[in-house]
Amino acid sequence: MTPALFDSHCHLSWEEAEHPVADTLERARAAGVLDLLCVGVDLASSRRAAEIAAAEPGVRASAGIHPNDLPLAPGALGRELAGLERLLAGGGFAAVGETGLDRHWDRVPAAIQEEGFQAQLELAAAHGLPVVIHCREAIDRVRDVLRSLGRPAAGVMHCWSGRAEEVDDFLDLGLHVSFAGNLSYKRNEELREAARRVPRDRLLLETDAPFLAPQPRRGRRNEPAFLPHTLAALAAARGEDPEALAAATRANAYRLFGPAPAGGGSAAGMVTISPEA
Ligand SMILES: [Zn+2]
Repeated sequence: MTPALFDSHCHLSWEEAEHPVADTLERARAAGVLDLLCVGVDLASSRRAAEIAAAEPGVRASAGIHPNDLPLAPGALGRELAGLERLLAGGGFAAVGETGLDRHWDRVPAAIQEEGFQAQLELAAAHGLPVVIHCREAIDRVRDVLRSLGRPAAGVMHCWSGRAEEVDDFLDLGLHVSFAGNLSYKRNEELREAARRVPRDRLLLETDAPFLAPQPRRGRRNEPAFLPHTLAALAAARGEDPEALAAATRANAYRLFGPAPAGGGSAAGMVTISPEA
């Protein structure tokens, strides 16, 4: 038996032709990953996420435009955001994002990133949905933007990678904090310290697949089936029981992204897996 898990952030339609979603989900379920949030990074992948969510039990969809994928042409951002608003109005989404700020890559100027982030925060609030926040080398600015809202932020700091004490401000803002496979990397002691600071009822687990495969799969294409390795890393870092942590992170994700469907999903809490999984 293995604990049932919720992958709070994955990209199922990435290189879908070579990596069919049905195969990915089959391996995920065999590994106990029964619930997944499939995250869009632009309008096309957001639409596709909703299609997958409608067809596959346990999959939820998030619609958003990643800061590195915002359009640059004059007037294009407004059109893109209007498209996102129409998509959200059509329903079928459990969250808005991923959105946020990224100062590591400089393809999209900071001003456009901020406009896109602000607009998606407003869309999330207008639709009563949690927001999935991407933050890379921009913690101060993301925090300022969230504080300027003047209200608690419902959502998640995804793939947390800041300094340990920086996590406190985002917890104060009301956010959940999600940890990915880099938690398992040997030199990431700072990240494990951050994971110890997060109260159990604000923790989430994610793969960010196809990126950031955990040890011992590091260097390979990541997929939701590898999430148990990150659970193990989180449990070791916090000195807690993996089964209890799996249940807590799953309950947190249901609270944030919506309850498990009646009679389905991972309501049983434990699943039997085949030995080779
Ligand atoms: Zn992502």
